Amino acid sequence: MADNHHKVVIIGSGPAGWTAAIYAGRANLSPLVLQGTQPGGQLTITTEVENFPGFPEGIMGPELMEKFQAQAERFGTRVVYDTVNEVDFSKRPFRISTDESCYTADTLIIATGASAKWIGLESEQRLMGHGVSSCATCDGAFFRGKEVIVVGGGDTAMEEANFLTRFCSKVVVIHRRDSLRASKIMQDRGMNNPKIQFIWDTIVEDIEGSKETGVTSVTLKNLKTSEISKFPTQGVFVAIGHKPNTEIFQGKLDLHPNGYLKVTPGRVNTNIEGVFACGDVIDHHYRQAITAAGTGCMAAMDAEKYLEAQEANLATSV
Ligand code: NAP
Repeated sequence: MADNHHKVVIIGSGPAGWTAAIYAGRANLSPLVLQGTQPGGQLTITTEVENFPGFPEGIMGPELMEKFQAQAERFGTRVVYDTVNEVDFSKRPFRISTDESCYTADTLIIATGASAKWIGLESEQRLMGHGVSSCATCDGAFFRGKEVIVVGGGDTAMEEANFLTRFCSKVVVIHRRDSLRASKIMQDRGMNNPKIQFIWDTIVEDIEGSKETGVTSVTLKNLKTSEISKFPTQGVFVAIGHKPNTEIFQGKLDLHPNGYLKVTPGRVNTNIEGVFACGDVIDHHYRQAITAAGTGCMAAMDAEKYLEAQEANLATSV
């Protein structure tokens, strides 16, 4: 068990988790990173990252995450591919139960990120992996020469739609309003791509098909006219945003009503002393790799200060 005790345990391995590890490692704290179910986080299922400073030509998301990890390991980070199921915050050190083991920590940094949201249709779950996906990077190549739809109107939807035009003969974006939420540059890319078409003011009410045939069509509803129609398509890419990965903290840490972890405004401390949170799990506004990395740095620096104060308290009490 002694090997399983760490001064700093970081849950999650996206830009926030790795940056926290780099800073904690350089502070000689030998942090442990528990990677979670999606090592490297959301950037591992994206394509080119064009807005991370320092890479003027852009860099592929997975490669960027490999670089983050290598930098964290260079400074003594221990990395374990394991998923946390439960954290006991009631005792010190904190107790972290995973699929494979159990760890203890003097301070905890939560960087569990966020995951893709789903529309919530039974058919969507049934046909997942059989024509329904939330990751064009992962699954786009299966749709070579096919016609697909992308649901959503944000940056992710535009990015997915553009990426899919590498393989698909036609990509139709279905958006519930008549204007996009995506940033100007991403909107322009979508609008200027001759393979992309848009259907406005419309939601997907059902997805038709089977595991044998794959997706064959979707049922659409125009929200302005209430008209229902059947639209033939061979693939459905859902890109309607993300939800924070905070299930295991419900009832244990303070959360916002939308599920994001609550931290002191402008800081990264949660309601439990010694527990810090960073990255997309606390951020429903910016959600960028660079902002996640920034709060990861803040979490590690605050964890270091917290540990120093604990040690100073201990020294004065003897
Ligand atoms: P988002 O900005 O929250 O956009 C979600 C989109 O899905 C919105 O257009 C929304 O419609 C729609 N939507 C939400 N729930 C829906 C539902 N149940 N049914 C139908 N449509 C639904 O999420 P995102 O696109 O994933 O982007 C998240 C963050 O990551 C943003 O800050 C974005 O800038 C960033 N990001 C950046 C890049 C880049 O810079 N290259 C790439 C990807 C993501 P409404 O517009 O009507 O709300």
